[in-house]
Amino acid sequence: MKGGEWWWNRGGARPRREKARGRGGGGGSWGVEQGLKLYRAHKQQAAVRKWRGALKSIRHREDKFALLGYLYQAYMDWGKYRDSIEFGNKQLCISEELDSPNMRAEAYLNLARAHERLGALDRALDYARHSLYNECDQCATAGLVHLTVGRVHLELAGFCKALEAFQRAHKIAHSIQDPSLELQVYVGLSELFCRLQDADKSARYAARAYDLSRSLQLGDLNSRHHRAALLQMAAALRKKGELGDAHDYCSEATRLSLVSGDQASYARSIRIMGDIYRKKSDINKAFRQYESAMGSAAATGDRLCQMEAMDGAARCLEALRLQHKICNCRPLEFNTRLLEVAGSVGAKLLVRTVRSRLSKIYGSLGDEEQKGHYERLATAMEEDLELRCGSCNEPFGLEADSLEALPCSHILHARCAYDILKRRDKKKKRLCPDCHKSVSSRLYLHCEDPHGMNTLNHSSLSLASLRASSLATLEDCHATSSV
Ligand SMILES: [Zn+2]
Ligand SMILES: [Zn+2]
Repeated sequence: MKGGEWWWNRGGARPRREKARGRGGGGGSWGVEQGLKLYRAHKQQAAVRKWRGALKSIRHREDKFALLGYLYQAYMDWGKYRDSIEFGNKQLCISEELDSPNMRAEAYLNLARAHERLGALDRALDYARHSLYNECDQCATAGLVHLTVGRVHLELAGFCKALEAFQRAHKIAHSIQDPSLELQVYVGLSELFCRLQDADKSARYAARAYDLSRSLQLGDLNSRHHRAALLQMAAALRKKGELGDAHDYCSEATRLSLVSGDQASYARSIRIMGDIYRKKSDINKAFRQYESAMGSAAATGDRLCQMEAMDGAARCLEALRLQHKICNCRPLEFNTRLLEVAGSVGAKLLVRTVRSRLSKIYGSLGDEEQKGHYERLATAMEEDLELRCGSCNEPFGLEADSLEALPCSHILHARCAYDILKRRDKKKKRLCPDCHKSVSSRLYLHCEDPHGMNTLNHSSLSLASLRASSLATLEDCHATSSV
């Protein structure tokens, strides 16, 4: 989860803890408080030891539920998703015993998030649905559920559904004024447009996330929000070809991930660094990064990151193959393996890419039958993805282009969307070509820059400020060098 410290300033947690003290909750609740202090000081190992100790002596089930939530998050941060699932299941049991819809919603959300990272996307969606059954529709938990649903659909290449879910999460973030949720929505949107090859838009959303991460009242530049925002900046700038800046953001994210023991962000940062080297045509260095990312991600069971790193490695092999530095065997074997992984996760966009790569490799081998076979499969997947602009009927998302999303979550070429919005004619109404809903003059979530007139707000990306933030966290690190 690229999420935040949402779980210690959430509604329920604090009153419960205070109640516990009043009741004389004994050693258990004292341990919980001690653990929280340690965790805030970035002494995660010590905090978890305290919490595990407290778990044995805590009696009150509501307190136990909260404590299991802390443990869940701590293990998520370490990338130990299977342990996290255990804590989530224990939370679910308590919520059933107490028959509490709010607790059930939280437990199901936690299970959804852990399954998402493990690449069990259908199960993640199931848990998310269960969570929403039990939740009021305008609270932090519901916001995080929509966010999770958005991210799962993004992996499944259901871009319209992903947008819809992000939009819901964004609405909640605004109505309950939750900047950490808002930040995570921007990270999701940035990733969405990155995958659909609109690098400018991707960078704009990443910059919003990064700005929020620096202005958040979390007062903690070592938070996972900050790491997520840094990583997204690195990914978006890499896509735009701004490799020097991308490199700086990425190495800062790597460093902070190591300091805080955040395995998931670490593996992801190494993978993105691989992308940066690959863009610089330093294929050998890129390949080593991907190998290391694959290893780290495999160790934590983070299948999504593992799959992305494999794709990076496959792209390196392809580059070497086309330069006649290696023969066709290894790329053939590697891409076949990747196709299996992507297929089992349900990552359709990647499945399409790998199929067309395989088609080319078979072509070089002179195997026309297999070449045609994979070419047809790739085209079939392309149709299945429905990446076709409802206005001009040309594809989008497969080549670099500017895109725009309508409020109904349908995506069009930016030029096609503006054509619709410019309509003044009564007869030619402003309707979404896909669902025929009326399109207001306001474009998707952020309409202050609908015509792409302003380029990136470079003040927000200033590297001087990045370095200033590095200094601050460096001091933090000295203070917590025991971690
Ligand atoms: Zn179009
Ligand atoms: Zn529509």
